[in-house]
Amino acid sequence: MKTFRIGGVHPAENKLSAAEPIRVAELPKIAVFPMGQHIGAPAKPIVQKGDKVKVGQMIAEAGGFVSAPIFSSVSGTVQKIDTIIEASGYKKPAVFITVEGDEWEESIDRSTDLVTLADRPELTSKDIIDKIQKAGIVGMGGACFPCHVKLMPPPGSKPEWVIINAVECEPYLTADHRLMLEHADEIIVGLTLLMKAVDVKKGFIGIENNKPDAIALMQEKAKAYPGIEIVPLKVKYPQGGEKQLIDAVVGRQVPAPPALPVSVGAIIQNVGTAFAVYEAVMKNKPLFERIVTVTGKSLAHPSNFLTRMGTPMSQLIDACGGLPEDTGKVIGGGPMMGKALLNTDVPICKGSSGVLIMNEKEAKRGEVENCIRCGKCVGACPMGLEPYLLSQCAEQQMWERLEKEDVVSCIECGSCQFTCPANRPLLDYIRLGKSTVMGIIRSRNAK
Ligand code: SF4
Ligand code: SF4
Repeated sequence: MKTFRIGGVHPAENKLSAAEPIRVAELPKIAVFPMGQHIGAPAKPIVQKGDKVKVGQMIAEAGGFVSAPIFSSVSGTVQKIDTIIEASGYKKPAVFITVEGDEWEESIDRSTDLVTLADRPELTSKDIIDKIQKAGIVGMGGACFPCHVKLMPPPGSKPEWVIINAVECEPYLTADHRLMLEHADEIIVGLTLLMKAVDVKKGFIGIENNKPDAIALMQEKAKAYPGIEIVPLKVKYPQGGEKQLIDAVVGRQVPAPPALPVSVGAIIQNVGTAFAVYEAVMKNKPLFERIVTVTGKSLAHPSNFLTRMGTPMSQLIDACGGLPEDTGKVIGGGPMMGKALLNTDVPICKGSSGVLIMNEKEAKRGEVENCIRCGKCVGACPMGLEPYLLSQCAEQQMWERLEKEDVVSCIECGSCQFTCPANRPLLDYIRLGKSTVMGIIRSRNAK
C-alpha cells in the first residue's frame, strides 16, 4: 500500500468520535468573528455597531489578494467591533454579533439537491475561481491558505493533478471522516470543480486505510467520474502534510522552499475545502460553517458538529457533557500539531478542525533529560532534517546555522518530539527557531 518515503511515526489513533454522526450545533448567543482567520492580510470590517445582518452576509472584505472575506454565520445585530484573543493566542480585531433568529440571505440555495457540472456546463475556470474567492474559502485542514491563490499558480508552472487531502492523520480528529461518509457526492463534485478550475483531467482523493468505510463509499461514488481515483494509503503520520501526500499519491518530491507543490504538478486541497467549494459554486453559499470534532478520553460524549463560525468552543464542550474534572489541557486541533488554548471561549474559525480535551495524565510531559544522541528524531523526521541539531541551534540562538540547516523546511509535525526518549521539547525550540529565521529572511528580502 502507498505511503511517503522518508520518516514518519505511528501515534495511537484514538478516533473516539469516528462512529458519531454529525450533529448540528446550537446557535450561539453572541458570535465572534476574528478578522485574521487565514494566511495573508487580515480582512477589513464593512459593518458598524448597530447594523442588522443576515446569515451569509459579508461582514469583512478581503484585505488584499492573499486574503479572504468573512461572512456572518448568524442573523442579528452587530454589537461591537473590538479585539479578542483567538485560538493562536494573539489578540485580533473581531466583529461581535448578537444573534436574533436565523434569517438567511435569499441567494443561498438551501436545498439538498445535488448539482453537478453536467447541470452547469456553462461554468468556466474563471467563474469557478471567482466564486471561490468571493465565498471566502481557505484551506480547511488548518493551514487556512486562501483557496483561490492556490488555483492561480505562478507563470511557468503547469498543474497536472488535483489531490484531495482526506488523510486526517492527526490522532483523535474525525471531522473529515464523517464529512466523507455523509457528503461523498458533494465532495466529488467539489473535486470536479477544482479540476476544471485549473484545467486538469486527473484528480485523486488520498485516504488512510483506517477509514475503510469512507474508502469504499468514495470508490463507489467515483465510478461515475473516470478522471477521479481514490487512493488508499498506509496509516502513517504526517501523511496529511502536502509534501508527504504528493510523495505518497504520485511519487514526486517537492524541492525545498520556496518551491510550491505545483512545481511538481500537484494542487492540494483539503476534503473540507472541496465540500466548501461545492457549496460556494453550486449553492451560492459562502464559507460560514464547518465540521468540528470535539473529543477526549474523559469527555462524556465525543462528537462531530456542524458548527457556525464564531461559536465559542466552550458551547461545543458543554454539548459533549462539559469540561471533565480531570482536564489537564485543551487543544485547538489535534495532539500532534494543535496548540494549547488559553481559554475555551475562543470562537470556531475557518481552520478549526477540532477541540481536544486532554486529561491530566495525557497532558503531563515527561521529565526532560539530556540528549542521548540516539538519532530517533532524525529517523522520524519526514523532511530529512536533524531535529536535535535544529533544536540545539534554536536554544543557543544560532540563527545563521539554523538557516543553513534548512529549518524553514520543517513542517512542524512534531514527529521528532513524539519519538524522543529523553522528552526533549524539540518542536517548541524548532518552532521558535523557524519563525525567527523566517523573519530574518523576510526583512532581508524587503531591503
Ligand atoms: S517538527 Fe520539523 S524537525 Fe521535527 S520531525 Fe517534523 S519536520 Fe522534522
Ligand atoms: S531523539 Fe531525543 S535523545 Fe535521541 S537524538 Fe533526538 S533529541 Fe537526542
